[in-house]
Amino acid sequence: MKLFLDELRFIDTEKPLDLSIELSDDEGNPRAWYVEPPTFEPVRTEHYTGSVEEGGPVNFRDIFFNPHGHSTHTECLGHITSEIFSVNDRIREYFCKAQVLTVKPTVILNQSDGLQDKVITADQLCNVSDAVDALIIRTIPNDVNKKNLNYSNTNPTYLDVNGASILIAKGIKHLLVDLPSVDRESDGGALVFHHAFWEVPKNPNHERTITELIYVSDDIDDGEYILELQLAAFKNDAAPSRPVLYKIEKS
Ligand SMILES: [Zn+2]
Repeated sequence: MKLFLDELRFIDTEKPLDLSIELSDDEGNPRAWYVEPPTFEPVRTEHYTGSVEEGGPVNFRDIFFNPHGHSTHTECLGHITSEIFSVNDRIREYFCKAQVLTVKPTVILNQSDGLQDKVITADQLCNVSDAVDALIIRTIPNDVNKKNLNYSNTNPTYLDVNGASILIAKGIKHLLVDLPSVDRESDGGALVFHHAFWEVPKNPNHERTITELIYVSDDIDDGEYILELQLAAFKNDAAPSRPVLYKIEKS
């Protein structure tokens, strides 16, 4: 179906570009923050088994997972505040204009522990459009194994805290990254970018969201799109999400 944005431009709902990484019990399910793999287990009681293969009437499985550690998820400021605000209450509009931006992180020697950090600097965000509501960052290299990595103890790429004020000034409401976090893995719990983007504690912003662990395939060009950002309806600081892009086409 073609959905027209105005007299000329439209999106084709038959051509979704899915940015989500699915949650599965495959060994290759991504992981971060030192969590074990997710588990999918049939419910078993004395009288019943939740597995058709094992003779039960239906497949009825318990799933144990962590929204932050196991797959694509969207979070709100409740991630870092003492009150656990629910991301499910924050998003009321699911479509917006978005920009895909490919960034090659800058390598910087971290003085505190001598590790080579890969950082998305504030300078690299200066080209962000101020006519979009969402920014989708694809980092280079963009190997498809991003969908299967165990990021724990790998010091993944993160964003320089100075980039947050640039994104706020440009009116970015939704930030999406193909990383396990916008902050450094080992930062003593400071989460400086999260705090800066949500302006916690001085001026807490309840509208902005951060989506982590997406994958933007190479056949998606940089540029402007319509983003549909759908979340599972969890009452929690973070929820599994499915960001989908649509190319803006001209008739
Ligand atoms: Zn998270």
